[in-house]
Amino acid sequence: MRKYQVAVVGGGPAGMMAAIKSAQTLRHPSKSNVVLIEKNDNLGKKLLLTGGGRCNITHDSPINSMVNLFGKNSAFLKPSFFNFDREKLLKFFKFKGLNFKTENNGKIYPVTDDSKTILEILDKYLKDFGVDVVLSKRVMDIEKNKDVFNITIEDCNSSYPTHTSNKIKSNKLILATGGVTYPLTGSNGEGLKFAKKLGHHITPIKPGLVPFKIREQWVKDLSGLKLENVGLNINFNSDDAFKKKISSRGTVLLTHFGLSGPGILDFSRKISLNAKNLQDLFPCEMSLDLMFDLTPEQLKEQLNHDFNQKGKTIIKNYLKILLPKNMVKPFLRVVDVDPQKKLNQISRKEKNRILFNLKNLKLNIISLLPIEKAMVTCGGVSYKEINSKTTESRIVSGLYFAGEIIEFCGPTGGYNLQMAFSTGYNAGSCAANSLNKEN
Ligand SMILES: Cc1cc2nc3c(=O)[nH]c(=O)nc-3n(C[C@H](O)[C@H](O)[C@H](O)COP(=O)(O)OP(=O)(O)OC[C@H]3O[C@@H](n4cnc5c(N)ncnc54)[C@H](O)[C@@H]3O)c2cc1C
Repeated sequence: MRKYQVAVVGGGPAGMMAAIKSAQTLRHPSKSNVVLIEKNDNLGKKLLLTGGGRCNITHDSPINSMVNLFGKNSAFLKPSFFNFDREKLLKFFKFKGLNFKTENNGKIYPVTDDSKTILEILDKYLKDFGVDVVLSKRVMDIEKNKDVFNITIEDCNSSYPTHTSNKIKSNKLILATGGVTYPLTGSNGEGLKFAKKLGHHITPIKPGLVPFKIREQWVKDLSGLKLENVGLNINFNSDDAFKKKISSRGTVLLTHFGLSGPGILDFSRKISLNAKNLQDLFPCEMSLDLMFDLTPEQLKEQLNHDFNQKGKTIIKNYLKILLPKNMVKPFLRVVDVDPQKKLNQISRKEKNRILFNLKNLKLNIISLLPIEKAMVTCGGVSYKEINSKTTESRIVSGLYFAGEIIEFCGPTGGYNLQMAFSTGYNAGSCAANSLNKEN
């Protein structure tokens, strides 16, 4: 049985950063006193998928607004975000030769457009600081006996499952096992069970950043179509327990099952964060505002003006200036207007229907996709039981948390990776500093 000063469970971005930072901070880093345990045969399986394989690592927005985006109790994240902010995160990678670019929407990616290059650098740091990386070993159980954590691990090499268990001991333990989404990447909620067993409360687990299944066939027929800057609204008022209007805005992607894209993913997160019983909310109706930058009055004025000036233009050609070409026919079917009519033949009722639906196009949501298809988990270890300055548990001393296992979830844009790296860095440095003080 091997004993380490720090054991980190979970080889995602949070766990890798925690292991690197604790090994760097420990007074005797060369003694390989840090172990990183990962059940996959490779580190960072989910990290490789991020940003469509390009890794949207962080965002260009001011640090305070980044933190605020994590919701009403997000002040918890401030110490971690300030200790290891965007600049420090990027510098960490730039030091090993990787540069970054900021896209128009503020999202930051490596110039390589390849998440593998991020993983390679994390791997180099792990080697530089002598972290023992233990792959294909699943942590099965964690106990604390006096001041020592006893970690039971099992071999999970898929080709030759041996199911032999083994023990690792450590003085400090950092849990960075992620959430429950995309379980094939390894994040399947096992870490939450350990946290619970060790006395922590787990806040309700819900999908964050998840697409919608939509009833309307025309949406599915237009799979691949992207709508920019769309307003999204749902008025939940059928259930007494949940009367609320949820609104969002962003890019919407039409898919073979319904709707996705950053606008929808962020919208789904808002719904999840607000709703107590998500499953009770669906099916329900939502509306798209296809002319977000115009008020209904401005749009009415524009339509009146154009209908007067361009009376001989047929409606299906006119609408091409307002809508993507492929969407014009289905839109006219929904508003029940003959596509061949000239603008000067359109009745006032028809014009009002066009106007109304450009601002309030109704769609029926059947459901959210299952939590396995969500990009992040909303809910997890309650922040109330974690010291925000150190990420150490308030219940079990020497136990730290990092990354998505903590209850917070951010919107799309690189915030979740920044959160994983910042909390990982904080957990690693605080666990190691605490040992340095003890020794
Ligand atoms: C498709 C997709 C795209 C995304 N794109 C972005 C993006 O562009 N930008 C962004 O900011 N965020 C993105 N995210 C979210 C981001 O990937 C996560 O928030 C982030 O990976 C969380 O990091 P983590 O280290 O906390 O957990 P994870 O990355 O989930 O890592 C946890 C690790 O713990 C291991 N583990 C779990 N249980 C055990 C156990 N019992 N024993 C041993 N090991 C265990 C798992 O195998 C896993 O490797 C995306 C997510 C998905 C699914």
